[in-house]
Amino acid sequence: MASIWQLKQEICDVGRRIYERGFVAANDGNISVRIGDGRYLCTPTGVSKGFMKPEDIATVDDEGNQLAGGLPRTSEVLLHLQIYHEQPEVNAVCHAHPPHATAFAVAGLELPSCILPEVEIFIGQVPLAQYDTPGSQNLAESILPHLRNKANTILLANHGAVACDATLKQAYWHLETLDMYCRILLLSRELGGIRQLPEQKVRELLDIKKQMGIDDPRLDGEMQLCSLPGNDDFLRGFSEVCIPGHEPDADGHGHGRGIANLPSQNGQPQPRPNQQPYPAVVAGREIPGDGRLGESSETARRRATEDEIERMVQIITDRIVQACASQHG
Ligand SMILES: [Zn+2]
Repeated sequence: MASIWQLKQEICDVGRRIYERGFVAANDGNISVRIGDGRYLCTPTGVSKGFMKPEDIATVDDEGNQLAGGLPRTSEVLLHLQIYHEQPEVNAVCHAHPPHATAFAVAGLELPSCILPEVEIFIGQVPLAQYDTPGSQNLAESILPHLRNKANTILLANHGAVACDATLKQAYWHLETLDMYCRILLLSRELGGIRQLPEQKVRELLDIKKQMGIDDPRLDGEMQLCSLPGNDDFLRGFSEVCIPGHEPDADGHGHGRGIANLPSQNGQPQPRPNQQPYPAVVAGREIPGDGRLGESSETARRRATEDEIERMVQIITDRIVQACASQHG
């Protein structure tokens, strides 16, 4: 069992991590740990989580009254206490504003599930709690239905995210996993869509989760296995096609469908890069010279670009004039 001093140091370490990862700005965010006998350690208010010292950490009772610590406790203590009261197995809570996750919370988007194995196992479905004023009892109560659904990571609408678990490290890791997940969702959507895991593969993940002793309401059949929220803007690029499954051969190995099937991987030589000189063409015009762009062609390049911009402006102007003429004609 860690000493109180060690727990305070751990809170400072996690504070530094959330600050350095950009999960909070300025003095945002707060962290707490349950220490037993109805007492909790929590971060002070008005102090950057990146620069805390163990002596800055406050001690509060079950109602949030400050018992010890050189600085006033976080104003968000009610949110933390709500979690401890509702989930007796939770010993640590971490609240921050990780930008990618907070972007979803600001856009009012629930996170899709059944996409990344680690997210399914360690977090599960991430609910979005309704907005309320930071520091208020109402905000604390906004997460209540989700705590009762055994959520360990919750988005707070127009605010940020809160994560909890048996240890501080686990609670912090949920925030890391969450923000990485949201970032990957945004990137993969840009690449053309998001594909879910097949349901059977998700069930395999939930079995692993069960073996690891991690609760998931989907194991009790209380919740839909894979949420596919409706027609939000974000999910317009959402593919309803699952990823193709691995199909084992008779020998148990899979068919090579990816890089392993490229010619270069079958004993063929690597394709050679294009050895042609870099074409001396800028904005559709040939640049006089030796067929390569070099320092000597810098002026010609600039002139060609300027000409090209002028030409584009002319085309756009013509189109606008044409459009106006057809509307008014
Ligand atoms: Zn906050």
